[in-house]
Amino acid sequence: MGVTNGYAAMKAGEALQPFSFERREVGGKDVLIQIAYCGVCHSDLHQARDEWGGAIFPMVPGHEIVGTVVKIGADVKKVKEGDMVGVGCFVDSCRTCPACLKGDEQYCATGMILTYNGLDRQGQPTYGGYSNQIVVDEQYLLTIPPALAPDGAAPLLCAGITTYSPLRNWGVGKGHRLAVVGLGGLGHMAVKFGKAFGADVTVLSRNDRKKAEAERLGAKDFVAMGGLNESSRLTGSFDFIIDTASAEHDLNTGLTLLKTDGTYIMVGAPPEPLSIMGFGLVLRRRRLVGSLIGGIRETQEMLNYCADKGIVCDIETVKIQEINEAYERMLKGDVRFRFVIDLASLSR
Ligand code: NAP
Ligand code: ZN
Ligand code: ZN
Repeated sequence: MGVTNGYAAMKAGEALQPFSFERREVGGKDVLIQIAYCGVCHSDLHQARDEWGGAIFPMVPGHEIVGTVVKIGADVKKVKEGDMVGVGCFVDSCRTCPACLKGDEQYCATGMILTYNGLDRQGQPTYGGYSNQIVVDEQYLLTIPPALAPDGAAPLLCAGITTYSPLRNWGVGKGHRLAVVGLGGLGHMAVKFGKAFGADVTVLSRNDRKKAEAERLGAKDFVAMGGLNESSRLTGSFDFIIDTASAEHDLNTGLTLLKTDGTYIMVGAPPEPLSIMGFGLVLRRRRLVGSLIGGIRETQEMLNYCADKGIVCDIETVKIQEINEAYERMLKGDVRFRFVIDLASLSR
């Protein structure tokens, strides 16, 4: 296999820099993809800075990958050369455990193999989509429907499925009031899906800077959580809250905003532990649950749904050379609402 060019963090917290490496040869069931776009997820930043622990370096992040099939193995049936395809957060799993057989590969009993910051079956590190090409087994590929713009579709592979899956799983829809905590990459997709599924959506943000955008995205209400009086008008009013915040924050106020039997869905993964008062759950029989991305079958269902409804992510395209600045801007919440790397910039 020829040399793959990308950008990597060589050590935890270091600026990403050009990095060349080898991908595996295209095997019978493998597909070689020329990467066109890759979304920038906050999980990329958490891992490149080893905020969750156990990170593998050098690290080429990126798990919101869209590109064109340029070569297929002899046994590939799912796609052909020239097709627009996607790769999300994982590229393999055991394929035999109950979760894998059900299509919930993200909950594989022995652990899915992450697209990057993982080890493949040969024990070699996996490298992600901040690069010009990737080799993936067809079973872990998604097809990008032609109705979707490839750049706007890229973040659907993580931000999209991570919000679609729990909203579907808990049946969020007509007649429900849904609050979205944090209006970033995941949050803005939670607003779009919540609205598309028929729920009445409120955005809970740190301050009022994103109020106009929240309304444009389809939110009926917006509350800056800094002002307690503002949030207290919502006490006991939501059926569901989906929390997408990327850093330490107060869950206790949020819990009080749920109705009796309301469900607080955690999808954000701040590195710090979050403290909650038992009373917030106990007093109104509330539930606190979590959800991790989505399986291949459900991710394809989500992509098809988006094509049908005309849903894509709101993005700002950046060059790979701007990735370190993009990380800093993401940390400040200065992105509307997802950075997407145009990998054509790699060869410039
Ligand atoms: P993002 O685009 O940076 O958005 C995060 C949002 O969280 C910010 O826009 C901000 O919203 C809010 N926020 C940030 N710091 C906060 C703080 N200290 N207190 C309260 N709110 C804060 O990040 P993302 O890509 O959407 O990812 C969000 C989180 O989900 C990350 O932790 C990521 O690792 C995790 N994640 C989980 C899964 C999963 O499978 N469960 C998948 C992907 C990502 P406002 O500006 O509106 O306040
Ligand atoms: Zn992600
Ligand atoms: Zn499995």
